[in-house]
Amino acid sequence: MNAKEIMQIFQDTAYVRTGGSPEELKCAEYLIGKCRELGLEAKLEPFPVQMAEIKEAHLTVDGQEIPCKGYRCAGSGEVEAPFYYLTGSDPHSLAQCKGKIVLVDGLGHWTYHDLVENGAVGFLTYGGDIAAPDRDIDQKELRASVCQGIAKLPGVHMNVKDATQLVAQDAKTAKIVLQQEEYEGESRNVVLEMPGEIPETIVFSAHYDSTSLSQGAYDNMSGSIGILGVAAYFAQHPHRHSLRFVWCGSEERGLLGAKAHCAKEENLKNLVLNINLDMIGSVMGKFAACCTSEEKLVHYISYLGSELGFGITVRQEVYSSDSTPFADKGIPAVTFARMASGRAAPIHVRYDTLELVKGERMEQDIGFITAFAQRMADAVTCPVAKEMPENMKEKLDIYLCRKRDKK
Ligand SMILES: [Zn+2]
Repeated sequence: MNAKEIMQIFQDTAYVRTGGSPEELKCAEYLIGKCRELGLEAKLEPFPVQMAEIKEAHLTVDGQEIPCKGYRCAGSGEVEAPFYYLTGSDPHSLAQCKGKIVLVDGLGHWTYHDLVENGAVGFLTYGGDIAAPDRDIDQKELRASVCQGIAKLPGVHMNVKDATQLVAQDAKTAKIVLQQEEYEGESRNVVLEMPGEIPETIVFSAHYDSTSLSQGAYDNMSGSIGILGVAAYFAQHPHRHSLRFVWCGSEERGLLGAKAHCAKEENLKNLVLNINLDMIGSVMGKFAACCTSEEKLVHYISYLGSELGFGITVRQEVYSSDSTPFADKGIPAVTFARMASGRAAPIHVRYDTLELVKGERMEQDIGFITAFAQRMADAVTCPVAKEMPENMKEKLDIYLCRKRDKK
């Protein structure tokens, strides 16, 4: 694929496509069409996801209505209580959550558990950039994995400008009204199989869904185009290993597509390596590889960078993307990404458009990834050990919230 064809795909997919939405399905079908243009037959792999339609969401603080969006899948109800801004996870700060509607800086898995365990009756979160001109509010959800086995609290999300104002004015009392209809919906992966000479399979992955405010050009139509480019290469070149390409749905909702794919035993059979792309081709930023594998792969990829004269930083780490469910099943995984600062290339916001990426840069990044993939695909035996080192297992436990990080 050349730069012009690449930019055309960015243009064709310049719309919001959240996990489980009709737009996500539209994009999945578009990707199937792109594979067909290469003479390749890809299929939908549907999986169930929780969905919700918000009927009503209001936040009133000291009698003043604050613009907000209700958390999906956080139940329905009405609650009025003292306002409290939680700034630490120390016992003193946590103890003051009791009976209050609590503003937090971010709602991670453990923060939500802290709120429930310390008797909060509702929660408030915020997003956006205080220096940006917009007052956008992202559509959030209480993930099933976060509230599994514990209470659902009503919560709303607001813009950072309003959250700052509330704290500045020493807000006293908050009221949340949240009404919604929750139901089971469907999201989907797009899966393309390309059999080789041997059954051992390299699986490529990249998510094609976006968050609610974002067209997701950089995050992650770029990676989706990336694996399409790799597929286009192998459609023209013989390969010893079998190859599978998975365009993952609902990554932004908690890696749901990759988790659904990896939950099926038959999908894991013969997998020897996962090559995941999440955000490449940006105008700004440095190219990096993140290996959730034995450390040898780190050295191999950095040597390959030198061999080919391609600037790359490589480290051994768990990356927050679709590579993680594969790694968690013991499949060595590597994520490639061109990492730009949030100032130069903001993600999950309206500013993630095709202006952040560049066709020629995409060609270069795809070229390096293809060179690596080609070596792995033609290997007599996949050289990467099919075992997860202890330090990576530990990081996977923390990332997947089975263990709480002491830090
Ligand atoms: Zn992403």
